[in-house]
Amino acid sequence: MSEKSILSSAPRSFAPSRRAKTVRFAELCKRVLGFERSKEIFYHPNPDKPGPWLKSKINKSGKKVFEDDYGSFRDSLLAVEEAVRIYTLEGHSTKIVIKESYAKILDEVRRLRVELDDDSLSAVARKQLDAHPFAQRALPEDFIPSMDALPHSDYFKRFVLQNENNVEDQWVRQKKSNYNRDFISSAAVDPNGDLLFFKRDVEPVYLRTDLFHEWAHRLAAQYRNAETAFFNAVLLEQRVDGWYFPSPYALTDKGEHWAVYGECMLAPADEAAPQGALRENRKYFHEVCEASPLRAVIWMRTLHTLLKSGALRRGTMHRELVWRCMRTEKFYLQRAVEFAESYLTSEDPKAVEQAKAVLDYLLPSQAKQAEAA
Ligand SMILES: [Zn+2]
Repeated sequence: MSEKSILSSAPRSFAPSRRAKTVRFAELCKRVLGFERSKEIFYHPNPDKPGPWLKSKINKSGKKVFEDDYGSFRDSLLAVEEAVRIYTLEGHSTKIVIKESYAKILDEVRRLRVELDDDSLSAVARKQLDAHPFAQRALPEDFIPSMDALPHSDYFKRFVLQNENNVEDQWVRQKKSNYNRDFISSAAVDPNGDLLFFKRDVEPVYLRTDLFHEWAHRLAAQYRNAETAFFNAVLLEQRVDGWYFPSPYALTDKGEHWAVYGECMLAPADEAAPQGALRENRKYFHEVCEASPLRAVIWMRTLHTLLKSGALRRGTMHRELVWRCMRTEKFYLQRAVEFAESYLTSEDPKAVEQAKAVLDYLLPSQAKQAEAA
């Protein structure tokens, strides 16, 4: 087969083998196995210490200047021990933590949503739910389809659902480097690894995209050399006019580029992704591969390494993802390698370095041979 015919057959081969089916809410409820009660510390803004949180410093010209002081911000917060429920889900080791007061509100939303599923009760439930101020809020059940869509969910030990805004928002708003004075986060990662969700609504696609994004960060943390190779691929592909990037946020730093790109790599094949991207940049998985084969191959090679490692409990998407990794390699590896190799003879020493870095990752046995020679 000529190279051209291999490439033109790629998109069709990436068509989804099956469409995601919509699961009834009552069915999802059965997968919430129960909860334990416990107590945990939460941090709240201290009205007596409203900031700004600055420390002074003498600069080079001997002038006193102020800079952001995260330490004094953290110290200003009030630590309060509060009652929580810790939910266990079927098919996932991730626990979902919700303050008792919030969980009680969500109990009511759950009751109405279950009734909505029951034809004889649905008219009354619809009316009550429409009037409920928390009708749109995500329940533990709503996370299950998104978690099922992950290669595996064990990277996440806990999700914490909160009915408050992120206490760190006021710090982010203060930071000199931050341009958004109205910044409100919808999710964050706690230093202990918990994934925190603030006043989170159901929005299934956004929820799933957020999980893909955070999951991609954890994947990178396990394969640091992959993230480095990927960033060199970004720099190489950037040299081409009209290069593809998934969203302006991807340009924040190399870690974010990897994670935003991961949203595309993990998105269902029949959905244009990611949702957070520029509208005109939203692409189907195979289109992203076409637009940036080098990044696609590196990302999927890394995912494949993890999926093959056998160290994980297999998610329901395991087979489909392994298949997708193999297909990416089959259709795009040659193109990616040729693209990188074309920079080995570049006049720009940086381009040569970047090309070598990606080729070392994609063709490790050749790299070893070259070293031995
Ligand atoms: Zn991120």
